[in-house]
Amino acid sequence: MHWTLERSRNTCPICGALPSQPATNSLQTAVCGSCGTVLWCFTTGAATWYYHYNPVTLALHCEHRRATLPPDFSEKLTNDEFLIKVMQTGLLTRGQVSALLGPVSDPKSGLKGLDSAELAMELINAGALTAWQCQLIQQDRLQGFVTPPYRVVDGFYDGATCRVYKAKIAGTATDAVLKNAISPRAAPYLERELRSVNEVNSPFVVAVREATTLVVPNNPHFLVREYFHGCRLNTLVKNVGPLPPELTAHIMAQAASALSAFHEHGFVYRRLVPRKIIVDASANVKIMGTGMVAIPGVETPGADQKILRRGAYTSPQQRVVGATTDTWSDIYSLGACLYFCLAGTDPSGRTPLRAQIERLASEVAGADSALPELRSIMRFCVSANTNNGLTAHELSVQLRSVANAP
Ligand SMILES: [Zn+2]
Repeated sequence: MHWTLERSRNTCPICGALPSQPATNSLQTAVCGSCGTVLWCFTTGAATWYYHYNPVTLALHCEHRRATLPPDFSEKLTNDEFLIKVMQTGLLTRGQVSALLGPVSDPKSGLKGLDSAELAMELINAGALTAWQCQLIQQDRLQGFVTPPYRVVDGFYDGATCRVYKAKIAGTATDAVLKNAISPRAAPYLERELRSVNEVNSPFVVAVREATTLVVPNNPHFLVREYFHGCRLNTLVKNVGPLPPELTAHIMAQAASALSAFHEHGFVYRRLVPRKIIVDASANVKIMGTGMVAIPGVETPGADQKILRRGAYTSPQQRVVGATTDTWSDIYSLGACLYFCLAGTDPSGRTPLRAQIERLASEVAGADSALPELRSIMRFCVSANTNNGLTAHELSVQLRSVANAP
């Protein structure tokens, strides 16, 4: 789905009037005094950007998976087969299904003549199952839904060594993110993430709630993160286009603070890419922990080097086999993420990033915006070396001053 999000600088994007400018550094609502439209705005000392919708909420809406089942759902599964599988997952008992649907003792008459897809939709609409759970049940993936107190409700990532889920915590209104190792190879990465996030303990880094080793088939390790309700930066920019320079500075200042926290504890984050940066509907930011963190005195798995040689967000230093990484690698990635926000596309891995930054058109955000200052910060990020580079803390201070500039 593609949306065009009306936005404009200092004027109402709907009628062109000059609304009042609330002085704050967060995404919040304002009402246009001329046409009465409720707008979302991001105000700095220098400018106010008005959006017709909250860009983060809109981007999340665009990504939202609709509650639909595969078209062949009822052909592959009878209603009773589906019900038996649901009970095997541990998500619902027969008694709970009965309470939701009426008596189900006789599959033929008791299920109200519903086929399996209709039955699934009844349970989805009752809030007892999610479409994602039903899809997995149809594929015979019946394990791992319930690990008290967690109930897995949605999938975020399905990889070869790791799966990441959204989970509900029983008896509370709290959500969590569950990261399951499905291969022993993933365990050291989870341990690395746990250790670094706990030591760093920063408000700009997604916290780890707990980590457990379980002797359950296919679930040898899992790590539970806090659920930070927001949108990944790559999803945000993909759905609403390039971000205004002032909002970019506000977001990336917080990401720089997160990197600074890692660096203060001797870690190198090593994998800063837009999808690791989460932005909430007020423009607060947290970065996710990563198992790719370099820990002093702990050997980095060899496989990491192969992964890191790829991608436009990795520093030239990291693309050399066997090279050690240091904090400048993270600062380079920060510069690449800044470029991504302003350009609206990933930097190319084939051209030097510095040249791409110079080419970034002034028109992207208006000549008198904060773009020139951000351009000079990006130059620092991608040109610095280990001896004369700015620290992540200094960069976060500079980015905040761009976001707050009069
Ligand atoms: Zn208006």
